[in-house]
Amino acid sequence: RLYNEVQVLKGNIRVYCRIRPFLPGQNSRQTSIEYIGENGELVVANPFKQGKDTHRLFKFNKVFGQAATQEEVFLDTRPLIRSILDGYNVCIFAYGQTGSGKTYTMSGPSITSKEDWGVNYRALNDLFQLTQIRRNAVVYEVGVQMVEIYNEQVRDILSDGGIWNTALPNGLAVPDASMHSVRSTEDVLELMNIGLMNRTVGATALNERSSRSHCVLSVHVRGVDVETDSVLRGSLNLVDLAGSERVDRSEATGERLKEAQHINKSLSALGDVIFALAHKNPHVPYRNSKLTQVLQSSLGGQAKTLMFVQVNPDGDSYAETVSTLKFAERVS
Ligand code: ADP
Ligand code: MG
Repeated sequence: RLYNEVQVLKGNIRVYCRIRPFLPGQNSRQTSIEYIGENGELVVANPFKQGKDTHRLFKFNKVFGQAATQEEVFLDTRPLIRSILDGYNVCIFAYGQTGSGKTYTMSGPSITSKEDWGVNYRALNDLFQLTQIRRNAVVYEVGVQMVEIYNEQVRDILSDGGIWNTALPNGLAVPDASMHSVRSTEDVLELMNIGLMNRTVGATALNERSSRSHCVLSVHVRGVDVETDSVLRGSLNLVDLAGSERVDRSEATGERLKEAQHINKSLSALGDVIFALAHKNPHVPYRNSKLTQVLQSSLGGQAKTLMFVQVNPDGDSYAETVSTLKFAERVS
């Protein structure tokens, strides 16, 4: 039984905060983290300032401290995965400044050890296990797309493989991106490696590029009930966002400034969309960025959204941390 130990999540938008541990060489006495509560409270403070008004309290659905394991983090993510097979579109993001642990949470530091696996691999594993459990009653097809959004341009990073031609009802998130049929977690891992390799083409260094582009992995599931022939569709979007750090306008020029402006624009558009959804506003401004257009069908409607807000505990990151937490607080 996969789901005995956890409760089904309520509400369609959840925000989890994750504090990454100090890395070797970081001075762990100068931290901005003051307090982590049992019920999602987080207090941060600037360790270099004394006196009043130096502490800030935030509240999220949950806060994972530095000792949280990949497995613990996934236990609270799991119920979302089951709802994909009930016809939901699920979107999971990681938001935060570069170096705050977005890729660690989504993918993990390596794929060789299962303990290191991030949300991506664990989610896919669960998804395939669940389709196996129900396979006598429902025939499932799973298709994968992977795109990178850089400077407001969407690029298919799996374009060399086969194309999956089954039409999707909600309209494809990215109509022009190739769809690849998969049967197992291993199939997806293989595709993800191809995608990550294609992502580096033309970039000076993977880290440079990956911190300034968004990477979206879309998993589309189609289940046909063998008795009634009825069709149910769900999807899972896994998004490793570009770094949210503010770029100093006086220092950035040329290409760097352009990148920063595009990232700013798309992250605030994302914030606006989630804010509108959280407040049930009649108008949801999807059209303001490529990122929100790509994710349109998986945000809103029959959709569940989970955002990981990633925090670097270092005192020097205090200003960025507060701006990250404010972004998240606005949408939660
Ligand atoms: P980002 O993708 O936000 O730029 P990374 O995921 O690359 O950040 O994390 C930055 C560094 O911190 C990496 O060396 C990563 O392995 C490490 N790290 C991040 N989160 C954790 C964690 N929860 N436990 C251990 N190391 C972590
Ligand atoms: Mg990263």
